[in-house]
Amino acid sequence: MDKGIVNINAVDRVVVVGGGTAGWMTAAAMSRYFNNGRRKVTVVESDAIGTVGVGEATIPPIKNFNAMLDIPENEFLKATRGTFKLGIEFVNWGQQGDRYFHPFGTYGQDLHGIQFHQLFLREAARGTAGSISDYSMSTVAAALGRFGRPAPGAKSLVSQMAYAFHFDAGLYAAYLRKMAEQQGAGRVEGRIVQVHRNGESGDVTSVELESGVIVEGDLFVDCSGFRGLLIEEALETGYEDWSHWLPMDSALAMPTANVGSPPPFTRATAHTAGWQWRIPLQHRTGNGHVFSSAYMQAEEAERILRDHVEGEPLADPRLLRFTTGMRKKAWNHNVISLGLSAGFIEPLESTSIHLIQNGIARLFALFPEKAISPVERDEYNRGMRELYEDVRDFIILHYKATQRGDSEFWRYVRDMDVPESLARKIELWRLHGRIFRENAELFTMPSWTAVMLGQNIWPERYDPIADTLDEQRVASAMAQMREGYRATAQALPSQEEFLRQSGAWYDEKSTVAAMPGGFR
Ligand SMILES: Cc1cc2nc3c(=O)[nH]c(=O)nc-3n(C[C@H](O)[C@H](O)[C@H](O)COP(=O)(O)OP(=O)(O)OC[C@H]3O[C@@H](n4cnc5c(N)ncnc54)[C@H](O)[C@@H]3O)c2cc1C
Repeated sequence: MDKGIVNINAVDRVVVVGGGTAGWMTAAAMSRYFNNGRRKVTVVESDAIGTVGVGEATIPPIKNFNAMLDIPENEFLKATRGTFKLGIEFVNWGQQGDRYFHPFGTYGQDLHGIQFHQLFLREAARGTAGSISDYSMSTVAAALGRFGRPAPGAKSLVSQMAYAFHFDAGLYAAYLRKMAEQQGAGRVEGRIVQVHRNGESGDVTSVELESGVIVEGDLFVDCSGFRGLLIEEALETGYEDWSHWLPMDSALAMPTANVGSPPPFTRATAHTAGWQWRIPLQHRTGNGHVFSSAYMQAEEAERILRDHVEGEPLADPRLLRFTTGMRKKAWNHNVISLGLSAGFIEPLESTSIHLIQNGIARLFALFPEKAISPVERDEYNRGMRELYEDVRDFIILHYKATQRGDSEFWRYVRDMDVPESLARKIELWRLHGRIFRENAELFTMPSWTAVMLGQNIWPERYDPIADTLDEQRVASAMAQMREGYRATAQALPSQEEFLRQSGAWYDEKSTVAAMPGGFR
């Protein structure tokens, strides 16, 4: 490309800085809706800098993003070597040796308007309930390694199963890039070395590449990763540090060969100063050890990771450093930060990609027409803050609700003060197992129930309203539910069989020709 001004050639020029997951998600969504002759989306990315290369587990709302972009699920899974995710298995969290499953979807069925988990607590008090996991379609199927696609509106118990995906981060970005470019998004390759701002307004006007190329824009989406090239380095927006609640600041990521068929769930195993993820894909398993450098050195973290992976390592561990928290304003001047440039709450519940998706949807809902209105910008920032804080509280719960005292790290998180919003939730649960969803909170009743019970936080007493139902009726309804989930799960194929039957399994010989561009 010639040195000089890049003519983006449209009234509204949106420049996306960064071509990682955040950048290409943004470009794919924007090019689909905004390339109407008026607006032009251009992505600037640097192959030399590269992407963070992790972020392979998601939560169910990802399906809404795919639906918005008309992404065919089977083709998508094949292209990204993806698998289904029915939830997360947590190992060693409440106490060492404990295991529980945080499923997607619901637990059981409410009876006469009484919440299922209250019925469960009542039955548990009588000693006849079994485990809460027996009442979740996703959990029972996951334990058997089975999968079936829920039919919308169907009465089948499979329709209670909710799911998300695991995918290869590099292939995901490549898939979205192809889509965005086909929809008209532009791409400029090169390292940005300078950010130019309007002397009066302070708004960003252009970014300048090492080659001298200048990319001008009206609105900039900062997807440049942890450094926050525009939002922080140029605009000095500031960062709210949450590491006193979430002291994890490092991760070692290492892929391994699969051992057997991939299970349809993520696993999070707690160690002495952090935890390890296992994300099964079609062609490999992603692993990583997230730890706090205040309590553990990288050498020890690597030894623990190597000792606990199941398959043959396919590469050496890669060290990543981060600070948990969020940018003080996600949108500042004419720059909206999305992805790691906006903040990071550590990957325990796989929420980062969702935060990107939510930010894109919110930006669409508040997209500026000509000038940026402060009230719309403030609304964006208010909504994003609320979402980040909700996610933060739910993640902190996993650390706070531990009985482990076997290391300095676990004693610290067990005994630390937590945000008032979380302390209130824990107290409401402790008294009568009550959970209230505030605003548009991401994690709903089944999620809070799963973690509280999974980490041995039992309410002092169930909600007395549960006593209004006949004991025998409840016991027999619950027995029927248990049996129904078990029988339904047993009739499902294994997830690998399901993927193969659906044409979603990547087969090197047949797929390269079939896929446009042949993602690898
Ligand atoms: C250890 C770990 C595990 C994670 N696990 C999960 C998970 O399981 N689920 C989940 O949802 N999320 C997870 N995440 C988060 C997820 O990885 C990110 O949200 C996602 O990858 C988005 O990253 P990004 O696009 O913001 O940044 P990056 O991938 O870092 O991309 C930044 C882009 O900016 C470009 N860039 C930077 N500087 C310049 C410059 N000067 N000039 C030009 N271009 C530049 C880079 O080249 C790159 O293209 C995890 C994160 C970490 C750290």
